[in-house]
Amino acid sequence: MRVLLLGGTADARRLAGLLVHEGHHVVSSLAGRTREPLLPAGEVRIGGFGGVEGLIAYLRGERIDVLVDATHPFAATMSEHAAVACAGLGVPRMVVDRPGWTASPGDVWHRVASLGEAAAVIPRLGRRVFLTTGRQGIAAFAELDECWFLARSVEPPDAVAPKRLDVVLDRGPFTVDGERRLMAGHRIDVLVTKDSGGPDAKLVAARELGIPVVMVNRPPAPPLGPLDRVAGVHAVTRAIAEAETRHP
Ligand code: NAP
Repeated sequence: MRVLLLGGTADARRLAGLLVHEGHHVVSSLAGRTREPLLPAGEVRIGGFGGVEGLIAYLRGERIDVLVDATHPFAATMSEHAAVACAGLGVPRMVVDRPGWTASPGDVWHRVASLGEAAAVIPRLGRRVFLTTGRQGIAAFAELDECWFLARSVEPPDAVAPKRLDVVLDRGPFTVDGERRLMAGHRIDVLVTKDSGGPDAKLVAARELGIPVVMVNRPPAPPLGPLDRVAGVHAVTRAIAEAETRHP
């Protein structure tokens, strides 16, 4: 099967490895936001397609049998383009399931709809803020002069950033112990995160330390068409193997 795998996540890298191992022709697509991305197995292409039209041309030109959307849950534009392009061409789309987080006893979470809303609630929750919203999310907090920020990202933030900002350049996975040390060591009193799902060490550490969390809700996912399905990493590999058996 000729698979276009929209990536930029650890799940996508794992899936690329599994699919290549099973003998599929896999092209992983990365947006190109990171200068030194972790590269998956198989072929890799980097950079936007040029909107829906560009993606349609790519799917046609490369004779793609199935598109797998393993992008981050907040990559809403890419997912929307993939849904429209696949529906238009009749190419099946598999969306890698990544459930959001749910609060446990002891958690103090404030759910908000956007990074802008997160910036608006922070001043009444704390003054020493741990930002884990990614490099592109840091600009939303640039006006909060009354707060000090510790931002963690893979690459340094853009020019628009809060005045009082320290940056820790790091890439997960992180441990609960490490997160507890980092937050306690910097006397963090509020954590800001997107509801990305996946490993939750920072949330466990925040719960243990009694630190409130501002949780940015996910954007809505595009609706599923008749050829589409949502599945976990292993179910995606099984479904692609089954599709190949039906259409060798
Ligand atoms: P986005 O806002 O949904 O997409 C904006 C544009 O970037 C898309 O229209 C597309 O350009 C291009 N693009 C995005 N993902 C692409 C991909 N995998 N391959 C080729 N082009 C892509 O995306 P984003 O939120 O900036 O995320 C960019 C990438 O970073 C994604 O691959 C995502 O999985 C990864 N990521 C995002 C986050 C996050 O919080 N948003 C976190 C971790 C990783 P064209 O219209 O020109 O095709």
